[in-house]
Amino acid sequence: MNNENVFPMTFVVFDMEWNQPIPYMPSPVDPKILPGEIIEIGAVKVQMLSENEYILSRPFSMVIRPVYYRIMNKQVSKVINKSTDDLKSGLPFEEVYRRFLEWCGEDYVLCTWGDSDISILKANLKIHGLSSEINDRFLDIQPLFGRVAENTAQQRSVAYAVDFYRIPQTDDFHSAERDAWYEARILKEALIDYFVIRSKDPGNEKDCPHLRTYISNPNLTTQKKWRSEVFSSEKEAIKMTLREPMNCPICEAPLDCEIEWFASGHTWLSLWMCPTHGSLSGKVRAKRTPKQEFFGGGQLRFVNGNAARYVREKWQEKNEKEDRSAIIASKYEEKCEEM
Ligand SMILES: [Zn+2]
Repeated sequence: MNNENVFPMTFVVFDMEWNQPIPYMPSPVDPKILPGEIIEIGAVKVQMLSENEYILSRPFSMVIRPVYYRIMNKQVSKVINKSTDDLKSGLPFEEVYRRFLEWCGEDYVLCTWGDSDISILKANLKIHGLSSEINDRFLDIQPLFGRVAENTAQQRSVAYAVDFYRIPQTDDFHSAERDAWYEARILKEALIDYFVIRSKDPGNEKDCPHLRTYISNPNLTTQKKWRSEVFSSEKEAIKMTLREPMNCPICEAPLDCEIEWFASGHTWLSLWMCPTHGSLSGKVRAKRTPKQEFFGGGQLRFVNGNAARYVREKWQEKNEKEDRSAIIASKYEEKCEEM
């Protein structure tokens, strides 16, 4: 059996609600710095005992008393069904976050649906003077669901996935807690599907990439940039830029190549892995100088599951195109032989 991870493994599925500034009122803080102030955190732990045995915890749920956007934005209020008064009973953000971390425990993969919660969480941590470093293993459930349930990169809603897995609907929870509960159920089903698909076809990285490719470190922002010398031809500039040795920007270790450089339109893409620090994507483009000569600009940066998937899909598209043209070419040859 390809036991891919050490069991038991814990996933903390969390969901947040946040309030937004009211457009016609002066905002106490630049909305670019704080696009949303968190007013509720809900979470459910999914403990994986084996490939098809999972235990879901009781939800964690706490309301936060906002200090910046204290009046409920009407649009937000409609969606999450909370009033300005409801928020007054909340606890300060620092207190709720501390309790949340305690509840999470140690050694877990943090999960959300989509990756917008992470940036909101970081913005809230920063504005409260806390470190914006969060758990170093993060998984976005949305692309995992898409791949294992439907073999698609299409972004689906939580409601869609709930229907897809026929998860019973419940109204007994607060909004963040309820969403976390649904997302945890979806994660469980998606993991079961994942292991079934992998066990049937273990090496099939194309249709079912390894679980670790969905897990990234949201704290890594280091990147590396380089450029080639100037050449008279664009082709030469690209060729030289692609020769750059690929080492991890953090530990300098040589990277394992997951997808070799390939052209996608005018951009060259590639995918790499540092065994310690995770997935990185490479990007190279030719740039023109005022003298009509060329140099190549390269960038290597850490990527989350979504960005890595983008590269993977561009690569698949290219391969499929090549497959199609190979088929057309061989049909053409057959025809020629018949004639
Ligand atoms: Zn590294």
